[in-house]
Amino acid sequence: MTAINHDLMTAAVLYEFGKPLVLEQVTVPIPGQGQILIKVIACGVCHSDLHAVDGDWATQPTLPLIPGHEVAGRVVACGPGVEGIDIGQLVGVAWMYSSCGRCEYCLAGMETICPVTEGTGYSKPGGYADYMVAVADFVAKLPDDVDPIAIAPILCAGVTTYRGLKRSGVAPGQWVAVVGIGGLGHVAVQYAVAMGMRVVAVDVDNDKLDLARSLGAEIVVNGRASNAITEVRKLAGGVHGVVVTAVATPAFEQALGMLRPAGVAVLIGLPGGHADEMRMSISTLVNGELSLRGSNVGTRIDLQEAVDFAVRGAVSATIRTVPLTEINGVLDEMRHGRIVGRVVIDMRSTL
Ligand code: NAD
Ligand code: ZN
Ligand code: ZN
Repeated sequence: MTAINHDLMTAAVLYEFGKPLVLEQVTVPIPGQGQILIKVIACGVCHSDLHAVDGDWATQPTLPLIPGHEVAGRVVACGPGVEGIDIGQLVGVAWMYSSCGRCEYCLAGMETICPVTEGTGYSKPGGYADYMVAVADFVAKLPDDVDPIAIAPILCAGVTTYRGLKRSGVAPGQWVAVVGIGGLGHVAVQYAVAMGMRVVAVDVDNDKLDLARSLGAEIVVNGRASNAITEVRKLAGGVHGVVVTAVATPAFEQALGMLRPAGVAVLIGLPGGHADEMRMSISTLVNGELSLRGSNVGTRIDLQEAVDFAVRGAVSATIRTVPLTEINGVLDEMRHGRIVGRVVIDMRSTL
């Protein structure tokens, strides 16, 4: 191993839920069996990081924690047993840090629901740091000329919504409503368009709806309008599918009302805490033969496909870059729903 292992790096560390992250010097981690050490170049700020910081999901992360799971960086060291990845390779690290590879779900290509999966920046240290360790077999190999800043949001927002759209079963030419046009939703609109779907965008913030329209949504609806559901049913005749990425329960309940008979609702957003339960009409579900599905991040194949869309230029996140020193302000903006597009931490910025 190189001398780097005993060096210190800057990281943003969570010590107490709901409190600001602490920027401090910590030891550069050492890659173990099958692991690689990555010099982080860019890390997107996903709302799941905010859930980690606030500790508002049922399973809380272990503290202290370095969050961050939209990581693009270069391999600088390989632990024992790493094959197929060389030092210098540009890689992307997503939420799915690892899965067991042996259970019935892993074997069936559903590694996203493996019972022993680990979460980057949640159960394992993530990318709000100069360096991080990842499992070689679970990172995405990126083309060398990809912009690490541009690709970062694809590694969670991209792959998650791409898989969610696939799970909606909406066919080319059919309507999908994307409910919640945040970091996830604004790339969901683009994946849906690239997949040939017609898009209705729903959010409670008009700036986000303007962004959705500029990205190809044909219809935009403010979810706060009392007639939001009837507007969607009137304009699009009810949608064939909805993909819900919002962080508020009413959005989920509203989304179901937007479906036409036989429609499919894909739930992605995870409001957590007291907002974790929704009400729905059993008879509406039964009589309309509606389907309700959850969608959890993406498999490694989904990740590769989602990255390919971005590399080809079919999907491109709207990004504001910040240095790591601004992370607490960014999390606060996110708490108040003020971020349009995605914020990406540029680890090359002066600290
Ligand atoms: P974000 O903060 O960037 O966006 C959330 C959006 O929801 C905002 O645009 C906000 O205006 C909108 N919103 C809030 N209330 C709404 C309402 N009532 N109706 C419509 N829109 C509303 O967050 P993000 O990074 O896009 O993440 C969204 C959610 O998805 C989070 O809960 C996150 O944890 C979750 N997530 C889930 C997965 C998964 O695998 N299932 C993966 C990544 C993120
Ligand atoms: Zn995420
Ligand atoms: Zn498994």
